[in-house]
Amino acid sequence: MAILVAGGAGYIGSHVCKILYKKGYEVVVYDNLSRGYREFAKWGEFIPGDIGDVRLLDNIFKHYKIDAVMHFCAFIEVAESVVDPQKYYENNVGNTLKLLEAMRQNNVNKFIFSSTAAVYGIPEKIPIKEDDRKMPINPYGKSKLMVEHILEDYDKAYGLNSICFRYFNAAGADPDGEIGEAHQPETHLIPLILDAALGKRDSIKIFGTDYNTKDGTCIRDFVHVNDLAEAHVRGLEYLLDGGETNYFNLGSGEGYSVREVIETVKKVTKKDFRVVEADRRPGDPAYLVADSTKAKEILGWKTKYSLDEIILTAWKWHSRIGESWQYWRG
Ligand code: UDP
Repeated sequence: MAILVAGGAGYIGSHVCKILYKKGYEVVVYDNLSRGYREFAKWGEFIPGDIGDVRLLDNIFKHYKIDAVMHFCAFIEVAESVVDPQKYYENNVGNTLKLLEAMRQNNVNKFIFSSTAAVYGIPEKIPIKEDDRKMPINPYGKSKLMVEHILEDYDKAYGLNSICFRYFNAAGADPDGEIGEAHQPETHLIPLILDAALGKRDSIKIFGTDYNTKDGTCIRDFVHVNDLAEAHVRGLEYLLDGGETNYFNLGSGEGYSVREVIETVKKVTKKDFRVVEADRRPGDPAYLVADSTKAKEILGWKTKYSLDEIILTAWKWHSRIGESWQYWRG
C-alpha cells in the first residue's frame, strides 16, 4: 500500500511518516523543503517537489501506484495570514487544488487533510464538537475551511473520500528524540518556553492576562504529535476500508492555561526563567478545547500522552539538538 505524504518533511508530517513506515506502508515523502527539513525525511523515499507541480505529481502517482494521499503542506502563521492573505490563499487553497487535480487525473480517491481548530473561530461553547459553528476569524482558518468545503464538493462530484482532521494544539516530539518541532520563525508556546528554559531567549511573554479564565490567561488543548500520527494511521485504515468522507477534532479534551504550561515546563525541565506579562495577541480566543468523542467512537482513537509527557518529549529533542539548533533553524 503506497502513501504519498505531502509535507512529510515537516513537523507533523515527519512523525506520521515514521509511524506509517514502521507499520509497513510504502511511504513517498514529498516536500519542497520551504518549511520542512531534509533530515526529517528519512522514513520512505524522499522526492523534493511542490504540490503545485502537477506534472511531477502525475509521474509520482503513476510510478509508485499511490493508493492514498496525506496533505500536510500549508502555511500556518495566523498573524502572517492577516497581513499577507494572498500567500495563504495561494498556497493553502490554490496549491491544494493542484494536488487534488493530480489525484483526480490518476483516480486516487483517498485523501487525509490537516485542518485546524481555527476553522471554528471564537467557539460558541466548550468543548467544541465537529458540528459546532464554523466562523474562522483569520485568513489561515478561512483557507483551511475553504479546502474542507472543496473536499465536500469533490466527494459528491468525483467520489473523492477524505478525512479532515481538525488539530487543536499540536505539541511534543518523537520520544526517540529523532525529530521535533522547529518552525521558522517559531511562534508556538511550548517551543518558545523551552527556548527560555535553555537560555536561548531571555524570557517568555504571556500574551494577555485579563481573559475571563481561571488565571486570566488563554486555555488551550495540547495534543502530542504522535497521538496525531496515530489518528492518521487509523483514518487511513478507515478510508481504505471504504469509510465515507468525515471530519474529526483531534485534541485531548483537557484545557491548560498558558501559566499552567509555563509552570509545567519549569517543573519538567527543572529550569527557571523570566516570565513577562504582555498585551493580548490579536485573534486569540480565550478557550479552545476539543470534544474528540467522534474520533474515539469511529476511529477508536484516544490520546496517550499527558501534558507532562508532551513537554518531556519536546524537551528531550530541544536539548538533544543543543548547539545544532541554529543549524536547524537555518
Ligand atoms: N502564547 C503566549 N506567549 C508566546 C506564544 C504564545 O502567551 O510567546 C499564547 C498564545 O497567545 C495562545 C497560546 O499561547 O493563547 C497558544 O499559542 P500558540 O501560538 O502556541 O498556538 P495557537 O493556540 O495560536 O494555535
